[in-house]
Amino acid sequence: MKKFLNENFLLQTKTAQQLYHEFAKQLPVIDYHNHLPPDQIANDINFENLTQVWLYGDHYKWRAMRTNGVDEKYCTGSAGDYEKFEKWAATVPYTLRNPLYHWTHLELQRYFNIETTLNADSAKAIYEEASAKLQTAEYSVRNLLRKMNVKVLCTTDDPTDSLEHHQKIAADGFEIKILPAYRPDKAMHVDDVSAFNKYVNKVESVSGISVSSYSDYLKALKARHDFFESVGCKVSDHGLEQLYAEDYTETEIKNIFEKIRSGKELVYSEIIKIKSAMLIEFAKWDCEKGWVQQYHLGVIRNNNTRMLGQLGADTGWDSIGDFSQGKALASFLNKLDATNQLAKTILYNLNPADNELMATMIGNFNDGSVAGKIQFGSAWWFLDQKDGMVKQMNALSNMSLLSKFVGMLTDSRSFMSYPRHEYFRRILCNMFGEEIENGELPNDLPWTGKIISDICYHNASAYFRF
Ligand SMILES: [Zn+2]
Repeated sequence: MKKFLNENFLLQTKTAQQLYHEFAKQLPVIDYHNHLPPDQIANDINFENLTQVWLYGDHYKWRAMRTNGVDEKYCTGSAGDYEKFEKWAATVPYTLRNPLYHWTHLELQRYFNIETTLNADSAKAIYEEASAKLQTAEYSVRNLLRKMNVKVLCTTDDPTDSLEHHQKIAADGFEIKILPAYRPDKAMHVDDVSAFNKYVNKVESVSGISVSSYSDYLKALKARHDFFESVGCKVSDHGLEQLYAEDYTETEIKNIFEKIRSGKELVYSEIIKIKSAMLIEFAKWDCEKGWVQQYHLGVIRNNNTRMLGQLGADTGWDSIGDFSQGKALASFLNKLDATNQLAKTILYNLNPADNELMATMIGNFNDGSVAGKIQFGSAWWFLDQKDGMVKQMNALSNMSLLSKFVGMLTDSRSFMSYPRHEYFRRILCNMFGEEIENGELPNDLPWTGKIISDICYHNASAYFRF
């Protein structure tokens, strides 16, 4: 029997072990999409204890705790930090086969050199040891990133964000690039009249451009796009149920914008028309600047209105949706391609039933101008686990070129998430190793090692040009 989580964790063959240890392991990390708070990096903070770094804001863990029958008081509520940790520690043994079990123990090993498994009995000692380490200079957030060999990371930022923290980090001369990403989700949230109008007013004041028409609104948002570029931004991102690609005329969009600005609710056909129009404009800016545009597709958010009312968004009430992705996605990409305004694009899919759809969709618009110009992005959120990654990479292998894949990202809010890159690399090496040993692939380790190094690091490095 193999030891749990030893140096050959997830590497089932000798060849897989060789590929991982000789080619993948030492490569730096480009984490091109995450939700880390830039202010914490700017101030290079230390966390006081393991609860702060693990349980504040981690809805994956909260969901597991709730499922295990833990009261909300210990997830997001008023319980003290150690009380919350005890409940999490007691939950961990019940997370066997959920990725949380692997993530938890990889994080304990990689950041703290703790090899004990976490449960109710080991909780106190682990909490004390990890918390004491977290308070030392070696565990400031910048040092946590250094420890994980991160070279570049991109946060997720609203167009109205001042980006003052990114500017401070750059001015400090921090050697890891901390770059913003332009995510205009709120800018197109016309489903909520009052929130949208407040948002337009905010764009107006932040950009200094007065907004009395749709074209003014675009001008103001474009000014923010230009500002993001000046701070080093090279990627945009969108969180959408699905792409929208309705036909529209300028007059229609002008009237729809005036209607919502006068405080009137839009009907569904108007909502999708104006969203279609905005998405096309944003995409054109990305193309002009040579940015990479990312689309996270397929989540049904905020399903539990009672809990949403109590705790707000991103607290663990979202799930995989079953939206119809294909036609609108094809039509959206085609509209941009037709005028030669299609930027490098990554499509992230949340419903595994759509994996093959995504893997074949990208081939329609890969035109030879840039290797892997249109990407089927890494398995994401509920699919960010062994089975999800294998399925995504199998679809990509079978229907496109896995060798041109830009690889893994954390998409996380936690500084403790970086071992997920290691997790991905092990799974990748295991897939190749197994097929080499089966005789399905040639026993050419230098070449296979090169492909693996490309997927882990070099493809992203060439693609994003950070
Ligand atoms: Zn994200």
